[in-house]
Amino acid sequence: MSLSQLARSIAESPTLRLNEEARLLRERGEPVIHLGIGEPKNKAPLAATLATSSKLVQGDVKYSPTDGLPSLKKAIIRYTEENYDKLVAPENVIVSSGAKQSIFNVLFTLLNPQDEVICLAPYWVSYPEMIRMCYGVPVVVKPEDGTFHPRLADIEKAVSPSTKAIIVNSPNNPSGVMYSEQFIAEIVDFCERRGIWVLMDDIYHKLIFDGRRIISAYKYTERDVESSKIIVVNGIAKVYGMTGYRIGWAVAPREIVGIMNNVQAQTTSCVSLLLQAGAEGALNGVQSVVEALRLQIQNHRDVIVNELQSFTGVRLQKPEGTFYCLPDFRAYGNDSVKLADFLLKKALVVTVPGKEFGMEGHLRLSYSGTMKDVTEGLARMKWALDPNSANEIYIGDKKCVRDWV
Ligand code: PMP
Repeated sequence: MSLSQLARSIAESPTLRLNEEARLLRERGEPVIHLGIGEPKNKAPLAATLATSSKLVQGDVKYSPTDGLPSLKKAIIRYTEENYDKLVAPENVIVSSGAKQSIFNVLFTLLNPQDEVICLAPYWVSYPEMIRMCYGVPVVVKPEDGTFHPRLADIEKAVSPSTKAIIVNSPNNPSGVMYSEQFIAEIVDFCERRGIWVLMDDIYHKLIFDGRRIISAYKYTERDVESSKIIVVNGIAKVYGMTGYRIGWAVAPREIVGIMNNVQAQTTSCVSLLLQAGAEGALNGVQSVVEALRLQIQNHRDVIVNELQSFTGVRLQKPEGTFYCLPDFRAYGNDSVKLADFLLKKALVVTVPGKEFGMEGHLRLSYSGTMKDVTEGLARMKWALDPNSANEIYIGDKKCVRDWV
């Protein structure tokens, strides 16, 4: 039996694989610390759970329109106006099962076979695989100066007549870096001049630190939404800590949304009405929940930065948003997969190899868990790797002695 070569070539999601490994270890009673997963520990906002349960109690659970409940779309339009200073029409908005499905459907709508899409390294692991699933070609642009900030000059060099789109994710998973306003302005201007789509993955846009302000790509175009090349993807997973609700959306010219609507209609029909109601509750409810989460994560960021600075040989670019950082661990080996395996085995700490994001020699650490996870996780990593740290540690109730460095 010959199965699809394309489907067989799609890589496993490394983060979901690590989640599963951590779950299995925990099930065996091992005191695993998960610095791999990007998922805040908060409870869903009350307004969201009330909205969901009220629909459920009424037994009001049918198909919804493919592009989303009109009332949720209304809330998204208001969100877009408030946060992007842009008034869009309902025909510019489509709700999907998470930002992930929105991004996939955008790519499926834009790409012809062999069309190229530029990914800025370090990039979110799913972009290259999704591009390939749409028969496109991912083209990776990596900053040569060792920073995580892309430069327009490098992007220009990577552009070819086949370039269809560029994906911009700021603040960035995995580095936590927030691209400058100047860069966003340059990329919008460049893409609009060259007829290239700019897909803004804004899923972390409110989780930014130290008084930074949200950047709206729309600020840098003179065009209206219909003639602009900007597509914005957003969702409730990160900013409201509602990962399991699986609600995301895209804002795009209506021609794009119309095609995405057909794609979605023929694949998933619509997103669960219960979960859409919850998303609407979150968007219309008290917004202090977002600020509370942001502050908590900023606090964790401060702690992890401090811990990493005291780690011999580790270099770090201080995260400006998200709940990730991508320290350079090359002082301990260039092979990040090996290093992550070593840390899981010796210290029972889950990290994600930088290789998955196009940055070998780095590890992505998430500080979205509890403060205890952050401090204990870092202490265990230091014990396992840093010869200048104490060589005994308790992992759970087991005393462990380092006898390898
Ligand atoms: N984009 C980025 C950069 C992400 O990190 C994630 C989630 N890890 C997503 C999109 C997908 O978000 P959702 O859970 O809404 O599908």
